[in-house]
Amino acid sequence: MSLTDTCIFCKIVEGDAPADFVYQDEHVVAFADIHPQAPVHLLIIPVRHIPSMAEVKDDDTELLGHMLQVARKLAEEHGISETGYRIITNCGAEGGQVVFHLHFHLVGGKSLGRFA
Ligand code: AMP
Ligand code: ZN
Repeated sequence: MSLTDTCIFCKIVEGDAPADFVYQDEHVVAFADIHPQAPVHLLIIPVRHIPSMAEVKDDDTELLGHMLQVARKLAEEHGISETGYRIITNCGAEGGQVVFHLHFHLVGGKSLGRFA
């Protein structure tokens, strides 16, 4: 069984599961979160399956930087650069991670308060 069979975000990357894409390149894709927690709630993910921040390698530094730059540009495109936003990655069980394919949440469009 391949990752594409088991990982919902790999399925989205492969086009085998639906998503509302807002960005796509060779290394990174971004799409709307299916259960948005704010007016803007996007997920920025690597095309390559990395389970979480805990599994990132030193060689992934450029990829992580690229993901953050994509998040910044999406924030501009979605009109939340001036008002502000949050970029979150949940890692592991106690970090509240549910989908074990690395993703950055880009959340904004309302006052988010302090994090828990
Ligand atoms: P977490 O792993 O805690 O960062 O949460 C995973 C996020 O993925 C949640 O906000 C879900 O709403 C979102 N999610 C799960 N399945 C899908 C999907 N098929 N399309 C878009 N977002 C999803
Ligand atoms: Zn995956």
